[in-house]
Parts: sequence; C-alpha cells; structure tokens
Amino acid sequence: MFKACGPIAPHELARCGQKKRCPAGKIMSCCSSRSSLLLSSEFLLWQRRPSSEGLVGPPYLMLSSLLLKLTSKPTRSSPMPLLQLLPSQSIDSQIANQISVMNTGYANSGITWKLAGTTRTTNADWFNNVGPDVSQQTAMKKALRTGTAKDLNVYTVGFTSGDGAGLLGYSTFPSSYSGNPTDDGCVILFSSLPGGTAAPYNLGQTLTHEAGHWVGLYHTFQGGCSGSGDQVSDTPAESSAAFGCPTGRDTCSATGVDPIHNFMDYTDDSCMNQFTAGQVTRLRSQISTYRGL
Ligand SMILES: [Zn+2]
Repeated sequence: MFKACGPIAPHELARCGQKKRCPAGKIMSCCSSRSSLLLSSEFLLWQRRPSSEGLVGPPYLMLSSLLLKLTSKPTRSSPMPLLQLLPSQSIDSQIANQISVMNTGYANSGITWKLAGTTRTTNADWFNNVGPDVSQQTAMKKALRTGTAKDLNVYTVGFTSGDGAGLLGYSTFPSSYSGNPTDDGCVILFSSLPGGTAAPYNLGQTLTHEAGHWVGLYHTFQGGCSGSGDQVSDTPAESSAAFGCPTGRDTCSATGVDPIHNFMDYTDDSCMNQFTAGQVTRLRSQISTYRGL
C-alpha cells in the first residue's frame, strides 16, 4: 500500500495527502488505496516515538450550538515498558485546552466547538496499530463512534506501529459521511494535544488541521502549482507541503507567497494561525451540504 522511501513528489502528496516516516528517518511518500478525497493523513516529522503514556480518550467535539457528543477512545498500552499514565485530571485539562485552541483557530469561521463527552478505552491493539485502512480502525470506530453527521468524533491514539506508525493524524471528509457514517471522524496522535510530548506538534493544531478536513478543507498544497488546488481562491498555490516555519517561502510562480501560516499546511503548530475567508466560505458550504449545519 505504501511506496518506497524517497523524496516526496508533489503530485504524490497532492494525490495521497499522506506521508509517513521511513524506518531510517527519511521521509517516505505513501499512497493508500483510498482516494485522497476520502481520507487525508498527516505526517509526523519528529524523531521521537510517542511515549506511551497516557491515553486520552478522544475528545468528541461538536459544532456550535448543535448537540454534539464526543466519544473518546483511548487506549493505552505499550508492550513492555512502564507506562506513565497521566493523571486523568491532566488529560481532561489537555482536552479542555485543545478545544480552546480550536475555538481560537476557528474564531472567524462562525463555528464553535464544544466538548460533548469523553470516554476512555483501554485497548493496546487499537492504540498502537490504528491506521487509515486497517481492521483495528474499523473495529475501534464501530465500537466507539457516536452521534450524527454533525458530531465530530475524535480518537486519540499512539500510532506506534503498523501502517499508521508515525502519523500525526488523519480525517474523513464530509462528503464521505453518507457512504460510511461509522468511519466519520478524526484520529490523532494523543501527544499532539496541548502540553503533549510531540513537539513541535504539541500545541493542539493537529486537531485544528484535521477538523479542517472534517469540515471539508483540503491541504493548501493540494494540486501543487497548477489546477484548482484546494478549491479556495485566496490561498496561494504552493508546490508541496511546508515544514517548520519557512517565512517567505514561495514555490509557485502564481501570485502570493506560500500560505505557511495556514492551518491546512504542514508547518509547526507555532507557525499556524489562520484560515482564509475563502476557506471559511468553503467549509460553511461543505458542512451545510453534507452535515446539515
Ligand atoms: Zn491534512
């Protein structure tokens, strides 16, 4: 399912929207058998393994003023080592901070996220092996997914091994809800929550980004320099994902420097701080059409 290690070709990224880390630490591009429009995964650049400490249940978020429920499913475990489980109070605090981060990010969108509930599940297989196309994911979502098209289910896992190893997160798009309601939601690395250990991705913007897919947004580098890109006119085209915070990066001849501060790029959490007016227009249209919001 995944391609061999090597440089990431922009067109592959655009098509797959998924990246992973090679065992040797190189970047590997990979494509799943599913359409990129059905699922988008993110890549994790850090060299550290997520320590298997606390598992948070996935916070289940809801869109404003609608009744949302949150399902969470944490699983924890780790084969051998001593786990240092975070006190649940600490995890609850991280979830609360995560929602605060999201509401700041979506402040100009008219969307407000509210925690509808959290559940905690202990299942080492799910926690370690969940990925975009594996049986553990199917089982996990079947067991834990709750709510309707209006409810964002978030699952926090370890992405420790298997096809999902090294991921920061992945999400479904609103247009795929009707075809597979149980699959709907975001799966993220537990240590990407605010205060987690996945620096520089530990300020909570992984879920801001994944939720962006959940409301219908594509990556800003979708399609590279040509074509209709992310279907949004005010996000300048960029040839590939940006990492770190490369101020002034300009990879396409079209007008505008790369949107490295956009939540839908791949830069560090501390570098991301905006959705454009065009993205807000698109996401509102998407959730109206597909989520009844
Ligand atoms: Zn993404």
